[in-house]
Amino acid sequence: MANQNIRNFSIIAHIDHGKSTIADRLIERTGTLTKREMEDQVLDSMDIERERGITIKSQTVRLHYKASDGEEYELNLIDTPGHVDFTYEVSRSLAACEGALLVVDAAQGVEAQTLANVYMALENDLEIIPVINKIDLPSADPERVKKEIEDVIGLDTSNAIECSAKTGQGIDEILEAIVTDIPAPEGDAAAPLRALIFDSYFDSYKGVIAHIRVKEGRIKKGQRLKMMATGKVFEVTDVGCFRPQPVDLGTLAAGEVGFVAGSLKDVRDVRVGDTITTAEKGAAEPLPGYRGVNPMVYCGLYPVESSDYDNLKDALEKLQLNDAALVFEPETSVALGFGFRCGFLGLLHMDVVQERLEREYHLKLITTAPTVIYHVYKTDGTMLKVSNPSELPPPTEIEHIEEPYVKATVIVPSDYVGAVMEISQDKRGEFKGMDYLDTNRVMITYHIPLNEIIFDYFDRLKSATRGYASLDYELADYKESKLVKVDILLNGDPVDALSTIVHKDRAASRGRQLAAKLKEIIPQQMFEIPIQAAIGSKVIARENVRARRKDVLAKCYGGDISRKRKLLEKQKEGKKRMKAVGSVEVPQEAFMAILKID
Ligand code: GDP
Ligand code: MG
Repeated sequence: MANQNIRNFSIIAHIDHGKSTIADRLIERTGTLTKREMEDQVLDSMDIERERGITIKSQTVRLHYKASDGEEYELNLIDTPGHVDFTYEVSRSLAACEGALLVVDAAQGVEAQTLANVYMALENDLEIIPVINKIDLPSADPERVKKEIEDVIGLDTSNAIECSAKTGQGIDEILEAIVTDIPAPEGDAAAPLRALIFDSYFDSYKGVIAHIRVKEGRIKKGQRLKMMATGKVFEVTDVGCFRPQPVDLGTLAAGEVGFVAGSLKDVRDVRVGDTITTAEKGAAEPLPGYRGVNPMVYCGLYPVESSDYDNLKDALEKLQLNDAALVFEPETSVALGFGFRCGFLGLLHMDVVQERLEREYHLKLITTAPTVIYHVYKTDGTMLKVSNPSELPPPTEIEHIEEPYVKATVIVPSDYVGAVMEISQDKRGEFKGMDYLDTNRVMITYHIPLNEIIFDYFDRLKSATRGYASLDYELADYKESKLVKVDILLNGDPVDALSTIVHKDRAASRGRQLAAKLKEIIPQQMFEIPIQAAIGSKVIARENVRARRKDVLAKCYGGDISRKRKLLEKQKEGKKRMKAVGSVEVPQEAFMAILKID
């Protein structure tokens, strides 16, 4: 198809504003899938994504649309991940498009991720079509939302489309606007090949499949191609588009969006943001914007049963086939034995990986509290990156420590400004600015240590603002902080997996809170267990778990056998996640206790 009849676009929105539902309607309306073939929200396919209502892997679908001008158009819808962990993936998906639908909930208005997404779309020079969704809701106020978009984002909304993905109203207007407002792709099909990879996944039959946008040149089956960043060379076995199943077309030319596959076994060779060119006489320069993976959050993963170590290793390797952003390396803990230090793009990414290991690979895991990467400048002039608190060098060897800060943007009704500021200050945030979006909604910006964001920042914001706060953040820079390591000793022995790095001014109170929390979590055992928190050799808090006196079953007065069995089962269930640390049985929860104190 000629390029003037192609449109490449994304849908950007704050979570829950209706991105997936609108995508479904577009797929349905263009007859790409019949109603019977349609599952709800076909684009969110993985179970976990569906349950959580988020998109982690982006998916692409080609729609054929006959417009009111009588012409046939090829519309490539590129779905983007809907979570702050995947900002870079979103930016590459947007780089594959010429335009975007900006979906805003008619009752909610502009939220933090709306803004973050719009800025990214503008950076990629996209034509933006504002779509006000959910106008069927009684609380919908499209005029207010349009004004907000004009005031806050500076977009003209005179052509904004009012729609309801629920009733189908406005869907035809969206399709027409895509054709009339979004520019057709440009790019010379005769130039050396340059194709942008914006996603990839592993298919057990075809190997790694790369989602691509051909910017210049042409890809043909049988060609030998090269990844410009990783240097990997491969032969094309399949090239085509998604409808939404992969359809082999034999070729893709400049301007088109689709996939390419060929003898690729490892997703790590197929990097998001990399440029594909031909192996011979390829392009001189890659497309701009490639960035390697950089994990932001690390944690330790240990099998509850040490005999499961190899199974955990296999499972991580398998997951990595589909997730180039997951990194791991073997790690040994005195307390927990052999396991892995794993790096993730963010907390959601971490949760999803843990959940998949447990659900799909039936592993029982002990996970340690997530930490950020500290830059430790040593007195010998070297810099050490520390992602495991127990690896922090002794204070005498440390010149200073820097920690990552993020720029956090919070949008709330103005009544809650005080609450947001209080929590942010408490999280060591530095106030950066405040803007009124309209008479009763405010955008507040803070620089906050990422470490503090991990520690329940968003949960606290949500509960203090009755769920109204929306949050987006991006890495800002590394800054010096006075940080120390707090160690925990159980029964006199330090437990490396319980060490945490905290700000000096809070170390004493965190140590006390942590000891108190552990006292609640660690079950009584046959002997008394002293719990101590210490900085270096200085003990800053002490608690005791008293020795157990009675058998649990004594409570059952002998009689009720089913109750007795239940109790035993419950005990067994609890036991599954217990790890013997020295002489003490420690439940999984304990390793996360640091996240639960307030
Ligand atoms: P996403 O997170 O942006 O992909 O949002 P979804 O498409 O998953 O939609 C979030 C919720 O809003 C779901 O419960 C949808 O059924 C609902 N929803 C989406 N569009 C509309 C609409 O036009 N009207 C109403 N009333 N609900 C909608
Ligand atoms: Mg969705």
